[in-house]
Amino acid sequence: MNSRRFLSALALIALTLTQASAKPSTDPRIAAMVRAVSAADLRAYDNRLVDFYTRNDFSEDLNSPTRGVFAARDWIKSQFEAAAQKSGGRMTVTLDTYLQDKTARTPRPVTESSIIATLAGDAPGPTYVMSSHYDDCDGDCTDGRGQAPGADDNGSGASAVLEAAKVMAPQHFHGTIIFAVFDGEELGLWGSDHFARELKAQGTNVVADLNNDIIGTSNAPAGSADRHTVRVFSEGLIDDAKVSAVNLVGSENDSPSREIARFVKSASEQYVAPMTATLIYRADRFRRGGDQESFTAQGFPAIRFVEIHEDFRHQHQNVRVENGVQYGDLPQYNDWTYLASVTRMNVAALAALALGPNQPAGVAILITGLTNDSTLRWKAAARATSYEIVWRETSAPMWQHSKNVGNVTQATVPVSKDNYILGVRSVDANGLVSPAVYPAAVR
Ligand SMILES: [Zn+2]
Repeated sequence: MNSRRFLSALALIALTLTQASAKPSTDPRIAAMVRAVSAADLRAYDNRLVDFYTRNDFSEDLNSPTRGVFAARDWIKSQFEAAAQKSGGRMTVTLDTYLQDKTARTPRPVTESSIIATLAGDAPGPTYVMSSHYDDCDGDCTDGRGQAPGADDNGSGASAVLEAAKVMAPQHFHGTIIFAVFDGEELGLWGSDHFARELKAQGTNVVADLNNDIIGTSNAPAGSADRHTVRVFSEGLIDDAKVSAVNLVGSENDSPSREIARFVKSASEQYVAPMTATLIYRADRFRRGGDQESFTAQGFPAIRFVEIHEDFRHQHQNVRVENGVQYGDLPQYNDWTYLASVTRMNVAALAALALGPNQPAGVAILITGLTNDSTLRWKAAARATSYEIVWRETSAPMWQHSKNVGNVTQATVPVSKDNYILGVRSVDANGLVSPAVYPAAVR
């Protein structure tokens, strides 16, 4: 090979390496946390929650250490406190308790009490939330006496949050992580609404809420199953979005919650193969809601994990056999391996957020002149050592291309802003990336 050919071969190798390293590198800290998630733990947590017979909001007056919503609350609190023992004093456990007024749906005022475990970051930084709810229902969500196992809705999500707290409490993160198990979801997202308003009032910078509600099984009613897929719901537009402005630039698919959903899909699939996160471009399912909506209502980006198939014979049903069919939200219908997979996806995404760099702020795309390339600028972000400009076709769901532009705060890529959607994300010294930020157009 002559020297010129040799040099061009080297250049080709260098180019190939650059493209390979454009993929986020696997972080051994995240891989270790993901591996530590235990299906046996999740099964034990969920069965323990079912043992309280009912966690209905109106079982709060049972005054029993073994039965009812507040007996379950005290046990959840004790589990967080056990996890906090391994945090070196960085994890604190509190109750968010208040008296909920009677509503059109409910017979009387009722005390609500959510359990909040907060793992302080090593430096002041953003706050990341993993949430779920622990209250449940039989066929009547105000019946505080009937059997309501709630193994899937939402013993599954509450168990996932407990397990994530256990695995993550000993580790160090730059930002604060809140592990929340809310009360009062079934009757109007009460507990999460109360808590998200508090976060807003305190000026907390919540970057993402990963909510988990009904993640216990992939079994479909007809007997099929999809053990490797979970849905991730995210809302499209924030409430004060001006539709004409959104239409002008085509930003309808790039709300802050959507960028978190894309990030969650990438991070979770990277660490928990062959699991797939199917992005659903909706706030939630028809006629259903979830605690992530309490966060988006306060302007905090949020997504919801929910199993791919739902069996409505095992949600909000009195436990009974009718025409040979077993009804009721019983633990034998959960799939602990599947629940462990979805819990691992949460841990991967949450750790990637809380270990990685902050998102760049003030991201703008410059539209001063008519050009066929794209110039973006942004403000330097904490822990970022370089930045990537990402882009995709306007009809593509996920980012398709990225270019690392170095440790700068403005760069131009030879990509037409008229033909592609572009964004910017931070990269840290370990190769971890932040969620991308959609730019504002600036003349
Ligand atoms: Zn639920």
